[in-house]
Amino acid sequence: MNAPVLTDRLKALETGFFAETHKLFIDGKWIDSESGQTIDVINPATGQVIAKVQAANAADIDKAVKAARRAFESGPWPAMNGTERAKLMWRLADALEEEGDEIGLVETLNNGMPMMMARMGAVGGSANNLRYNAGWAGKINGETIVGHNLSRHTYTLKQPVGVVGAITPWNFPLPMAIAKIAPAMAAGCTVVLKPAELTPLTAIRLGKLIERVGIPPGVVNIVTGYGDPAGKALVEHPDVDRISFTGSTATGKWIVQASAGNLKRVSLELGGKSPVLIFPDADLEKAIPGAAMGIFGNAGQVCVAGSRLYVHKDVFDKVVDGVTGMAKALRVGPGIEAETQMGPLISQRQLDRVTSYVQSGREQGAEVVVGGERSGNQGYFMQPTVLAETNRDMRVVQEEIFGPVVCAMPINDEDIEQIARTANDTTYGLAAYIWTRDMSVAHKLARKLQAGTVSVNGSAGIDAAVPFGGYKQSGWGRENGHEGAEHFYETKTVSVAL
Ligand code: NAD
Repeated sequence: MNAPVLTDRLKALETGFFAETHKLFIDGKWIDSESGQTIDVINPATGQVIAKVQAANAADIDKAVKAARRAFESGPWPAMNGTERAKLMWRLADALEEEGDEIGLVETLNNGMPMMMARMGAVGGSANNLRYNAGWAGKINGETIVGHNLSRHTYTLKQPVGVVGAITPWNFPLPMAIAKIAPAMAAGCTVVLKPAELTPLTAIRLGKLIERVGIPPGVVNIVTGYGDPAGKALVEHPDVDRISFTGSTATGKWIVQASAGNLKRVSLELGGKSPVLIFPDADLEKAIPGAAMGIFGNAGQVCVAGSRLYVHKDVFDKVVDGVTGMAKALRVGPGIEAETQMGPLISQRQLDRVTSYVQSGREQGAEVVVGGERSGNQGYFMQPTVLAETNRDMRVVQEEIFGPVVCAMPINDEDIEQIARTANDTTYGLAAYIWTRDMSVAHKLARKLQAGTVSVNGSAGIDAAVPFGGYKQSGWGRENGHEGAEHFYETKTVSVAL
């Protein structure tokens, strides 16, 4: 986007979309919240309020769940055949692309990520996710089973699970929402989405597109609000059949308990502390930038960030120097500046959290090789940070920082078993990265790593077609791919005496 076009778009947003106080999207209508309260939405690059959305309370959530229930029980959506649902999902994907530049800009202004990442990754990836999942509509079916009793005819039906409560975090607002809505829609479910209170704006835009392309009322309801009371009310609601949650492990644990009332199904995509393992035979020309962008991309606010860097002692100095050099050279700035490679953290709270982790590292004996401080004094920018002299007993090595901070540690001449034990030595198990030319080492290690995704010689990224999720405290279940789509169905066995 060239500078004059960007200026025009920013002005149009300021006087148009950002100037409204956004309502809740329930049953196909934009309605006021019962609470009468609003949330200030902040641009993390400036710290300034850019928009206001309404803050839902439990009564609003109840209205949204009722609308979703009506749409599920008596609306046209679950009764449509798969092709009809898929057509509407493709229309929504096309509409997202049509408004892609503007929606990408809204994502950048609200979340802070660089514009290219917002346009290509967040908006483009979301459109593709919708198209991918549209392909499952009508294609997940039961089977005919010959049981032990041959005088019965037995088959299974795959039926939509019902009303889905989707709760999403702020780090990739639009893609996280779509990752939940798309497979649910394909299955014939209806949805109440509660986006993160810090980044609700692209979800609102999505609501406007859902309305525009003619998805029936109540199929997707978008209710902005805080975790408590809005998210809490959704999790506790007795008429929600499934919660699909992405967020922190702490909230995930609470959700497990709170959803017990009606034993609703729960899937959880939670935090990570993912290891990056670099062997001496690795292609360092690729491994060094791979490791650097694996932690500095989106300012480290990435669930699969490679935050523990284990490097063989023979190449340790070279890799740490390389990652440090990249940290120094990285263009940190507002996402709307074309040359920006790393945007701000999401909030003052997140900036305080990340800097206090660095401080705890210092206190526990870590060396700050580069970075470690806030960058500038406007917005919530953090310097890309490399810590050395770290070890397993430090909080910076065990806990998810969710910022651009990597802990570098040497691997000595250890065997694969020992390397795997070191890599697995946290409560998380979301992702792991291996850099080596020896495919035997890569495959042996991949089998032993406790991680939902193991990437060899470059990050797998997130792909709508590929199952994604965590071992251990990184979550329950898998999102994406066939396995992710299956979450939105119940299996019913029908058995007929012949
Ligand atoms: P968070 O858990 O604080 O919030 C996530 C969402 O949950 C928000 O919408 C919030 O309003 C809501 N929430 C908070 N308390 C709630 C409650 N009591 N009941 C219901 N909803 C509640 O997480 P966050 O800080 O927004 O996001 C960062 C975390 O998300 C990190 O830990 C990160 O690793 C994780 N994450 C995981 C994945 C993944 O796919 N595994 C992807 C992105 C982010």
